[in-house]
Amino acid sequence: MLSNPLPEEFIKGLHIIEELEAAGFEAYFVGGSVRDYLLNRPIHDVDIATSAYPEEVKQVFSQTIDVGIEHGTVLVISDYGQYEVTTFRTESTYQDFRRPDEVTFVRSLAEDLKRRDFTINALAMTKTGAIIDYFDGQIDLENKQLRAVGEPTERFYEDALRMLRGVRFASQLGFEIEAKTFEAIKKHHPLLAHVSIERTHIEWIKMMMGDYRNKGLVSFLDSNLSEMCPGFANQKQRLMSLLTLEAGPIESELAVWGLVVDALELKGQSRLNFIKSWKLSNQLKLQIINVTEALTFLKTSDWDTMTLYGLSPFEVATVEHIRYLKTGVDCSRDTLKRHDNLPIHSKADLAINGRDILNYLHKEPGKWLGETLNELEEAVLCGKVANDKVALMTYIEKEKRN
Ligand code: ATP
Ligand code: MG
Repeated sequence: MLSNPLPEEFIKGLHIIEELEAAGFEAYFVGGSVRDYLLNRPIHDVDIATSAYPEEVKQVFSQTIDVGIEHGTVLVISDYGQYEVTTFRTESTYQDFRRPDEVTFVRSLAEDLKRRDFTINALAMTKTGAIIDYFDGQIDLENKQLRAVGEPTERFYEDALRMLRGVRFASQLGFEIEAKTFEAIKKHHPLLAHVSIERTHIEWIKMMMGDYRNKGLVSFLDSNLSEMCPGFANQKQRLMSLLTLEAGPIESELAVWGLVVDALELKGQSRLNFIKSWKLSNQLKLQIINVTEALTFLKTSDWDTMTLYGLSPFEVATVEHIRYLKTGVDCSRDTLKRHDNLPIHSKADLAINGRDILNYLHKEPGKWLGETLNELEEAVLCGKVANDKVALMTYIEKEKRN
C-alpha cells in the first residue's frame, strides 16, 4: 500500500479488521471514532464491530481479554495496541427503560447500527475509509445536528440515558438537538429517573466539561432533564447561574462539583446529602468539602496561611479555576506559588518528630506530645519559628518555661 489517508489510530487497527475478514467475517470501525474523524476532532478509543461471535473473535486472535463478553465485547491485544472488538448485536427486550435485558448477537451491520443512539454515532467505516451511513448521519454532521436513530420516543423508552447523552453531545460538539428529538426528550424526561446514578453521572460530567457547555446546559434545563437528577429538582434558577460563567471548559470533575455546590448554595448536611445522592467517592467528597469551604472563606477574606495549608495543590488550583470562571480574574499562578512557598506542607515536614521531642525532654509520651506537635506546626506556618531542629527545640524549651 502506497499511502493511506486514514489517521494513525485507524491504521494501527487495520490489521484487526483484515484478520477478521481473512477468517471470513465482516468488520468495521464504528461509533464515536468515525464521527470524530469526520469532524476532524481528536480520536480516542477506536471501536471495531464485527459479524464474528465473541468465541469466533477469540479464535482469530492469539491474545484477547474478556472485558464484556456477555455484551459481545472482547479486547484484542495486538502489537499495535488494544482494541475493543464487539459483535454486531441488537438489544431486544427493554423492560425498565434502562438497558436491554439481553443482547442478541446478529450477523448484520445494519441491525447493529439501528440500535445506536444518534445518527452521527451510527456510522461505520470500512478498512479503506468508505463510510457506511444508513441514517443520513453525514448530513446531520454537516448540519451540526443531533437526531435520534429512528423514532425518538421509542429509543428513549428503550434506554432513557440516551436523552442525557443528547445534551452531552450538544455540549461536546456544539450541535443542536433536532426538533423532534428534543420534543421527545422534553416530553419523556421523567424516564431518566429509571437510569442508574452511575450512568447518569458519567454523561452529566461529560456534559459539564464540554467545550460548548452552555449549549448542553440550556438543553438540560429546558428539557427538564435537570429535574430528574439528584439535588437538581426545583433548582433551575440557581443552576442557571452556571450559564454566566466565563467561556472555556471546566477543567476537572472536582471543579464541576465545586461550581455546582456553590451554585446550589449547599452547606453542612445538605452538602453531604447531595454528595451522597450522586454516590461520589470518599476522596471526591473530601475534596469537594475542602474546595467549597475555601470558596466560602474567600467570599469575605483573602487567602491566609492556614487556609492554604489545609488544601492540596490540586484543590488550590481548582478553587482558583472556579474563581476565574466566576469572575474572569485568574490568580492561580500566584496562589499556587504561595502554597508552594509554605514552610511545610504537612506535619511530616517538621524538622523534628515525636520521638525527637521525647528523647530531648526525657518525658513519658502522652496527650501533651500531640499538642506540642500541633503548636510547632502552627508556629512554623505563622513564621514564629524556623523549621530547624535546634530552633524548634529551643522554642519548646521556651514554651515550657512560660
Ligand atoms: P466518546 O467520544 O465520549 O467515547 P462515543 O460516541 O464513543 O463518545 P461511547 O459511550 O463510547 O460514546 O459509545 C460508543 C458508541 O456506542 C456510540 O457512538 C454509540 O454508537 C453507541 N452507544 C453508546 N451508548 C449508547 C446508548 N445508550 N444507546 C445507543 N447507543 C449507544
Ligand atoms: Mg467512545
